[in-house]
Amino acid sequence: SQLPHSSRLPPGSGLFATKCSGCGEKISASEFVMRALESVFHLSCFCCCVCDRQLRKGDEYVLKEGQLLCKMIREGLLPSENDSPID
Ligand SMILES: [Zn+2]
Ligand SMILES: [Zn+2]
Repeated sequence: SQLPHSSRLPPGSGLFATKCSGCGEKISASEFVMRALESVFHLSCFCCCVCDRQLRKGDEYVLKEGQLLCKMIREGLLPSENDSPID
């Protein structure tokens, strides 16, 4: 069964453990990560929190309050939530 993960690690656990800012899981030293400022993400967790697009090296993004936003969002290019989808 799956339990919701706690965002808090017990004190002293894994001095060098890096936590993914996306899913909150530990990142092992052998894993590839994406870094955004002081935050570290699994590659698969490095997604825009609004449009879910996975961001890659070289993609422009903003990190706002710990949440990743792609450049589209930053520039206000995405339709607002009130817009109906265009078919
Ligand atoms: Zn992750
Ligand atoms: Zn986006």
